[in-house]
Amino acid sequence: MSSTADPDCLFCKIVTGEIPAEIVSQTPHTVAFRDVDPQAPTHVLVIPRRHEPDIGSLAAVDAEATIALLAEARKIAEAHAEGSYRLVFNTGAEAHQTVFHCHAHVLAGRALGWPPV
Ligand code: AMP
Repeated sequence: MSSTADPDCLFCKIVTGEIPAEIVSQTPHTVAFRDVDPQAPTHVLVIPRRHEPDIGSLAAVDAEATIALLAEARKIAEAHAEGSYRLVFNTGAEAHQTVFHCHAHVLAGRALGWPPV
């Protein structure tokens, strides 16, 4: 693993292939895979290859990877959704972040309510 990986991180292990996932796309900066517990007909997680705990910390240290992640999330949404989708970055335990490796949830395929609960 590179110095930007955490050997104890579940999503770093998906990046390396140590833990299997249903991969949707891979780019030099990102890996995207289907969420194991989907909350919508389309529920894809897009993660940076480098380990950073959340989108803010990624943006602070790696603008290129941050832009690549957003661009890939958009590409996946356009490929799997018909116009409408939601991009979610749960950040912090109180916001229901459970895996502390930055990830974008791409949710689509059903009506999505507001506010999120
Ligand atoms: P969050 O609650 O925002 O941290 O989201 C973490 C997401 O990772 C949840 O939606 C989980 O269902 C998903 N997840 C956990 N383990 C795996 C896995 N091995 N493969 C795919 N998705 C996973």
